[in-house]
Amino acid sequence: MLPVEEKRNKNSKQKDLILRILRSTRRHPNANWIYEQARRELPNISLGTVYRNLDCLARMGKIREMASGNGLKLYDGDLRNHDHIQCTSCSRVEDIPHLFHPFSFDPIESATGYQIISRRLEFYGTCPECARKSAEV
Ligand SMILES: [Zn+2]
Ligand SMILES: [Zn+2]
Repeated sequence: MLPVEEKRNKNSKQKDLILRILRSTRRHPNANWIYEQARRELPNISLGTVYRNLDCLARMGKIREMASGNGLKLYDGDLRNHDHIQCTSCSRVEDIPHLFHPFSFDPIESATGYQIISRRLEFYGTCPECARKSAEV
């Protein structure tokens, strides 16, 4: 049993590491991938701890979580307003470059009476790699 102070330090060290891993990648990983990365630095970390910290970080609004096609959650350390495109074959998720946002909130606001503060759009399709693979078969 660790003294409380030591335990708190350990917890925030794990959380910091997970946040650092997420912010340094563009691949919108699942918990398993984050776990593999985290183990390089903290070999004793468990997958359960990774999940717990991801949940906590998401609740704190420090990361974004989203569903993937196969039921696993995916995580994103980039909190800027951006949209995603997901491959329905391999479930990878990528960011859509910001310049492709042709629409404005105005018509939606006037249709619903809402004052819109944010937007989340998900696009689905086949990524170039999966398209190439299926063309080869
Ligand atoms: Zn794909
Ligand atoms: Zn993203």
